Amino acid sequence: MSFDSLGLAPALLRALSEAGYKQPTPIQAAAIPEVLAGHDLMAAAQTGTGKTAAFLLPVLHRLANTPMLEGRRPIRVLILTPTRELAAQVQDNLADYAKYVRVSSTVIFGGVGMGNQLHALRRGVEVVVATPGRLIDHMMQRSVDLSKVEVLVLDEADRMLDMGFLPALKRILAAVPQKRQTLLFSATFAPEIKALAQQFMREPREVST
Ligand code: AMP
Repeated sequence: MSFDSLGLAPALLRALSEAGYKQPTPIQAAAIPEVLAGHDLMAAAQTGTGKTAAFLLPVLHRLANTPMLEGRRPIRVLILTPTRELAAQVQDNLADYAKYVRVSSTVIFGGVGMGNQLHALRRGVEVVVATPGRLIDHMMQRSVDLSKVEVLVLDEADRMLDMGFLPALKRILAAVPQKRQTLLFSATFAPEIKALAQQFMREPREVST
């Protein structure tokens, strides 16, 4: 199995090769085709399995193949993570993989001023990586428009629930379009995770490592 055979855009293959990635990890081999096919996806994967690339690569492939050429760019992909550290890490990986793809992204988390985040949101970004609490702050002051989101990623969903983010997640889920693709990554499929998927996902494919 190679990244090439998964059908990813050449610009991504080039960045992966430069990053020294030789072949997909098992979770990537299982998840990427499902996401490229447009399915909702529940993936059971621990940190260290390559789960971040498992959602970033097919999402970037979609953006690379359907660029927004004109006007102010709406947020098309929203990635939620439990902590600012994880958000920053996802954004770092995204920057690596998107080296040869024209895509704008920003990261939004609490504990820092709103100024830079507001500036980026006003300029228009296609991908937002965010922690739920600070995203809600932006929603309340109407500095973020989620009405054009095509793909929603819940990364480490079990940790987000453990940290008490369920009410925030429900508010965010109510603000994104119903017609969207939802990708949920979690270390386990505990009953609360299953319940979340049941309520907010459409016939998700399940993969695990
Ligand atoms: P993650 O599970 O997403 O936190 O990824 C763990 C580490 O594996 C990160 O440092 C990635 O850069 C790296 N990684 C992810 N996919 C691959 C791959 N296919 N080949 C080599 N390294 C990878």
